[in-house]
Amino acid sequence: MTYAGPGEETSPVGRTGGLPLNSGDFSWPTCATCKGPMQFLAQLPLDDLGRYADRGEVGGRGMLAVFMCQNDPGMCEEWDPTAGGNAAYVFPAEELPSPVSAPEGGETKLGEVSVFGYERVDSDDYYEASTGWAKRTGRPQREALGQLGGEPSWLQGEETPDCPSCGRLMDLAMQLEEGRHHETSANFGGGGCGYAFVCEDCAKAAFLWQS
Ligand SMILES: [Zn+2]
Ligand SMILES: [Zn+2]
Repeated sequence: MTYAGPGEETSPVGRTGGLPLNSGDFSWPTCATCKGPMQFLAQLPLDDLGRYADRGEVGGRGMLAVFMCQNDPGMCEEWDPTAGGNAAYVFPAEELPSPVSAPEGGETKLGEVSVFGYERVDSDDYYEASTGWAKRTGRPQREALGQLGGEPSWLQGEETPDCPSCGRLMDLAMQLEEGRHHETSANFGGGGCGYAFVCEDCAKAAFLWQS
């Protein structure tokens, strides 16, 4: 996943920053520890996962949305998939989803919107793929925004979560770098990576980070 430029806060594309899209009665998540509103980090149309796969059927797989508390960084167990310091959802596919407005107060939005581009790289190793891409294109390493699907490249021990509904191991939807600029990007402990997982059968998602 690479930086494809700035984007609109409400665009229905894969991006970090901006606002989540949901026309239902979705309420902005709050942190289990500090009770403040979480920060919206990123969204990914799950159809993007099929872009390079020969699945045949594409369309209507829903939107992954990831939030994390940033009101008191490091104090809300925001790295943990189940402690309530972050939240991840699979929103149902909608033709014209509406932006959910951010609540007043707290840290609710990133400093900018970064749209995801996707480039296929011939490598099984995420780190190699990412550094190789920067070298080959002459673009800054920080514009490599992460990995779409595939196997997680863990910075610490393996931590694949179980689906809270069916109990099976969840699939990696994306591994996210913090972003291209430290002032406007996500906080995964300084150089860490976020990992967003889904169980599409149960429409469940989970998020965690390591550094
Ligand atoms: Zn909190
Ligand atoms: Zn499940």
